[in-house]
Amino acid sequence: TFTQRYALITGANKGIGFEICRQLASKGMKVILASRNEKRGIEARERLLKESRSISDDDVVFHQLDVVDPASAVAVAHFIETKFGRLDILVNNAGFTGVAIEGDISVYQECIEANIIAAQSGQARPFHPKSNGRLIETLEGSKECIETNYYGTKRITETLIPLLQKSDSPTIVNVSSTFSTLLLQPNEWAKGVFSSEDTSLNEEKVEEVLHEFMKDFIDGKLQQNHWPPNLAAYKVSKAAVNAYTRIIARKYPSFCINSVCPGFVRTDICYNLGVLSEAEGAEAPVKLALLPNGGPSGSFFSREEALSL
Ligand code: NDP
Repeated sequence: TFTQRYALITGANKGIGFEICRQLASKGMKVILASRNEKRGIEARERLLKESRSISDDDVVFHQLDVVDPASAVAVAHFIETKFGRLDILVNNAGFTGVAIEGDISVYQECIEANIIAAQSGQARPFHPKSNGRLIETLEGSKECIETNYYGTKRITETLIPLLQKSDSPTIVNVSSTFSTLLLQPNEWAKGVFSSEDTSLNEEKVEEVLHEFMKDFIDGKLQQNHWPPNLAAYKVSKAAVNAYTRIIARKYPSFCINSVCPGFVRTDICYNLGVLSEAEGAEAPVKLALLPNGGPSGSFFSREEALSL
């Protein structure tokens, strides 16, 4: 067995990804802190070293990585190959909701609450904000959301699998959301594809759902064709991530591959309205990143489920 383990975290210049880097480095991993923006990434690494006395200069390296850019995925793989020879842990953390807010940001909190009530009652319902805010879900934003969350995760995973195969304990953690399960109603067709547990589920089927979603978005048929209201693209993209997690876990049985919801965390993605600190948000992904060989694979965990493993 190897003593030193190498971990790459995407979208690590801030938020949960940054804290995942801190916790993994504190536990002795060598961390590749990846960020799409070079300046933000380099500054994040400096902040990490300054704030954490137990982390030393060569425990953390920075590398540029934009998950929607295939060339940058190849470049990071080349960097890891030359510098470390393999990768042990990949955390696909970079994410985007695709949503913008006009007016009062508390509309986001109201939207989250409406979604939680909808999930509990099993009924998707339109959302009428009480505040003076409005959630804006544009075609561009929705496209970028699916590109980042699903295709980004898939692209980085595929590019790094050869390096993970050189590890004696290859582990992938996909940071997802319990909002993915909200997709399971009201669109029965998407629900059927995404929740399929059988071996016929594959990437093509997942992508057919994403394609139909975007087509209905463009044709103005989201409601007519029963796509979930409020944060639709985000829910669809994260449900696709969970389905993808099951697909690749089956394809690589020697790997440990899971997806996890970090909880509702105070970061920029939710206008800092969450209830958990960034460090608390990193706990569940870190727990899954450090699962011993032979642990569960192909599952989606809530924060509570992951922490109780
Ligand atoms: P932040 O907005 O703080 O961080 C998101 C990170 O993703 C940033 O570093 C951002 O980079 C990066 N990113 C976005 N697009 C790309 C891209 N194309 N390539 C590389 N990096 C990219 O939010 P969180 O820390 O909260 O989000 C981390 C993950 O947790 C996401 O996947 C999110 O969906 C998930 N999550 C968060 C929850 C919460 O309550 N906060 C709840 C459930 C899930 P940049 O700074 O350049 O924009």
